Amino acid sequence: MDKIYGIDLGTTNSCISVLKDGRPHTIPVDGNGIVPSVVSLDKENLLVGRVAANRAAAFPEQSVRSVKRLMGTTEKLKLGKKDYDPEDISAMILRYLCDEAGKIEGGDIDRVVITVPAYFSDAQRRATMEAGKRAGLTVERIVNEPTAAALFYDQVKIASTDAAPVHREDAGYVLVYDLGGGTFDVSVLRMGEIIEVMASTGDTHLGGDDFDRRIVTRIMRQIKEKDDIDLNDHVPALARLAGVAEKTKITLSENAVARVNETHIPAPGKKTCTVSMEFSREELEKMTEDLVDRTIVCVEKAMDEAKLTPDKIDRVLLVGGMTRMPVIVSRIEQIFGAARMPVVDPDLSVANGAAIQGGIISGENCEQILVDVTPHTLSLEVLSDEDYTLQCTPIIPRNTQIPATRARMFGTVVHNQETVRLNVYQGESTDPDENTLIGKTELKLAKAEADCPIVVEYSYDLNGIVHLIAEQKGYSRKTEIRIDSRNPQPVSQNLSEIEDGEWYEEDEPEAEARAINFVTQRANTLIAKIEDKAKKKLLSDALARYEKALKDDDGDIDGIEDELLSLIEENAEENAEEN
Ligand code: ADP
Ligand code: MG
Repeated sequence: MDKIYGIDLGTTNSCISVLKDGRPHTIPVDGNGIVPSVVSLDKENLLVGRVAANRAAAFPEQSVRSVKRLMGTTEKLKLGKKDYDPEDISAMILRYLCDEAGKIEGGDIDRVVITVPAYFSDAQRRATMEAGKRAGLTVERIVNEPTAAALFYDQVKIASTDAAPVHREDAGYVLVYDLGGGTFDVSVLRMGEIIEVMASTGDTHLGGDDFDRRIVTRIMRQIKEKDDIDLNDHVPALARLAGVAEKTKITLSENAVARVNETHIPAPGKKTCTVSMEFSREELEKMTEDLVDRTIVCVEKAMDEAKLTPDKIDRVLLVGGMTRMPVIVSRIEQIFGAARMPVVDPDLSVANGAAIQGGIISGENCEQILVDVTPHTLSLEVLSDEDYTLQCTPIIPRNTQIPATRARMFGTVVHNQETVRLNVYQGESTDPDENTLIGKTELKLAKAEADCPIVVEYSYDLNGIVHLIAEQKGYSRKTEIRIDSRNPQPVSQNLSEIEDGEWYEEDEPEAEARAINFVTQRANTLIAKIEDKAKKKLLSDALARYEKALKDDDGDIDGIEDELLSLIEENAEENAEEN
C-alpha cells in the first residue's frame, strides 16, 4: 500500500493510525487500537501486544516492558536463551502493529511515520529509525510526539455552538501535557507553518506506574495486617497486583469507588492469599497528590523556559492515558481555565497526528474532524462544608467529549439523615441561582451514620439525555432519573414525558429552608452529645433564639445564625468524635 501509516511507539502502549478521506483513523489492533508495548516469550514463540501483556503478569521474568527507556543504549535484553538489542524488541512491536493493521486494512504496510518524545537525543532517534529498519519498514519521518498531538488537535472542531471555539489563528502557543505509563513530558509549541518546540521538559520516571504502585502498597499493607504475609519482594505477587492496581485506577477515573476482590494471589512458600477492599477516588487522589504536584512543577518550568505566562497559552492539550484521571484535568484547568482545553481522546492523538504527518508527506488533504462535547457543565447542588451554603459542584464538566459517564461520592450531613435531594443544574457557576435547574429527584435513605457515602453518577449520551443514578453505598438504596438536557422544560411545568423521574415545582425558599434545617439539625445533634451542662445550655439558648427569630421573621436573623454557627463549630471541634 502506498499510504503512510502513523505510529505512536509508546513506553507503555503503542498505536497505529492512517488518514482516510482526509481524516485520521486508528486501526483497531488488539480490539481498541491501544496495543501494550510488551513482548513476552511463550516457549519458543514471541508474543506482542495484549496477549504478551497478559502473559507478562504471570511471567514477568520472560517478558520485556518499557523497552523505549533503553532506546539509544547498548543494553542487552534476555528472552529465553537469546539476547536482544532494544532496537530488536521495538522492531517486534512495530512489526506486530503493521502486520495486524495490515490484516484489518487488507494489504501490506511498509511506509511509516514514527513519533518520539521531544527530548529524545540523536542516538535515541537513530535507534528508533533502526528499529523501523529491522522491522522491514521505510521510516519516512521521525516526528516529535507533542508536535503530532498538536497537528491532530489542529484539525479538531468542537461540534457545539456554545463550546469555546478553537480557531486555527488562535493557536499561537500550545502547551502539551503528556502523562503516560512511565514518563511525563510537557512541551510548549509555537504553531504556524512549522510547528516549533519552544520548551520541552518532564520527568522520565514519573507516570501511571507510580500511581499503580501506591495502590499496590496499600493492598500489600492490608494483606500484611490481615494475614501477616509480606509480599514486598515477591515478584509474581507484585506483577499480579500491579495489574489489579491499574484496573482499580482506571475504574476510579469514571467511578467514585472501586472494589478490589482478588483470590489466589501468589505468596512466598507456594502459599496464596486473598484480598477484598474498596478504594474511593478521593483516597486515590490523596495518596497520589505529590505525583500530580510534580507534574505541575514541570508545567511551570516549561512555561518559564518558553518565557510565557499561562494567559499567553492559547490551547492546552492533554495527551496520554493518565490524563483521563479527573483530578489531573481539574489541576490543569486551575492554571489555564477550561475554555482552552479541547477534550479529545488522549490515547489516540499522537498516532492520529503521525497519520496526518504521513498524509502531508504523501500529498493528501486533511479535513476537519468534528467532536461532540457537552456544551454546559452538569452539576449537583451540595451543601458546602465551609459556609453551609448550597453550591453547584460539577459532575460532568463542560467540553467533555460525549458520550460520557462520571460519578462522584458525597457524604450525608447528619446522623440518620432521611433523604438526599438531588438537584441537577446546568451552567458554569457555583451559585445555583446563576445556573438552570434541569431536574430533581430525591433519594430516601436507610438509617446510617453521618458522612455515609452517596455515589451520584451522571451519564450524558449523544442526544443530550442525562441519566442520573444515586446510590447510598452499602444499603442498596438507589434512585434514577432521566432528563433531556437539550430541551429542559421549565421545572414548574408538568413534565409527564419524563420517564421514571420526578419533577418538582421550582421553589425559591426551598433551598433556604434546607440550609436552615441543616443548621438546626446539626445544633440538635450536638446538644444531645455535649456533656458539659453550661455549654449545652449556651447552645440550646442560641438555637432557641435562632428558631424564634425565624418564626417571627424579625431581628437580625443573619447575626443570630452566625452566632449559632460559631458555637456549633466550637463544640463540634471539641466533640471531634461526633461522627
Ligand atoms: P505511554 O505513552 O507511556 O505509552 P499511555 O499514554 O498509553 O502511555 O498511558 C498509559 C497509562 O495511562 C497507564 O498507566 C494506564 O494505566 C493509564 N490509563 C489508561 N487509561 C486510563 C484511565 N481511564 N484512567 C487513568 N489512567 C489511565
Ligand atoms: Mg505516549
